[in-house]
Amino acid sequence: MKKILSAVLAVAMLCTCVLMFTACGGNNSSAASDASSKTEAKELHMATNAAFEPYEYKEGGEVVGIDADIANAICEKLGCKLVIDDMDFDAIITAVTSGKDDFGMAGMTITDERKQSVDFTDPYTNAVQVIIVNEKDSPVASADDLKGKSIGVQMGTTGDIYVTDIEGAKVERFNKGADAVLALTQGKVDAVVIDNQPAKAFVAQNPGTKILDDPFENEEYAICLKKGSELTEQFNKALKELKDDGTIDTIIKKYISE
Ligand code: GLN
Repeated sequence: MKKILSAVLAVAMLCTCVLMFTACGGNNSSAASDASSKTEAKELHMATNAAFEPYEYKEGGEVVGIDADIANAICEKLGCKLVIDDMDFDAIITAVTSGKDDFGMAGMTITDERKQSVDFTDPYTNAVQVIIVNEKDSPVASADDLKGKSIGVQMGTTGDIYVTDIEGAKVERFNKGADAVLALTQGKVDAVVIDNQPAKAFVAQNPGTKILDDPFENEEYAICLKKGSELTEQFNKALKELKDDGTIDTIIKKYISE
């Protein structure tokens, strides 16, 4: 009986040790505690909004892009399988805080307000908010001109937050950036404020629109996780390794040529 007990104990200790090192090595390591039932299946669920090229968008029914590739590389390091959960951008934080998803990655800017609900990893890239206007006869030629204008944004984004502070601005909120740009081409809004890389993709898809040279606000993108999640440390470690060995740069260059 004693022998069996000590054998069981030894196995239990060994398992604990193995689990300390990876999030998805099995159930209930320190890191897997947020996602215990999911990590049994060796999955990490990512909440995103796949309408934000080149960070996340659909290609043949599959979510691809910079964030999907980086998330895959992180999951690979942690020994997990990535499962991507597509939703509206403004649903992502709730999906993470409720535990529905293990992390959120969606070209998401670190903000003080979001930090009150979630933890962020270290940033993995920079971005800037830009203004899209119609090429012809636009009443907006610079950020100063946004005062009193009707401006399209993607709901719940930092673009939405900045524009909401502009004096007299009439903010039109859309679920997708693409819908905001469509409203611009239809003359329903005077400008759209959105992140620079998706802006380039939208302008390429909508002849007659352009991005103003006047950049608006510099930002940093990071991955958000449930407050206090021990996964954050593992994500940071993986991110650092992926930065140091050039993987992040290679992934970004695959999607952004400049
Ligand atoms: N970077 C912006 C934000 O975090 C927009 C992100 C997005 O629309 N996917 O609010």
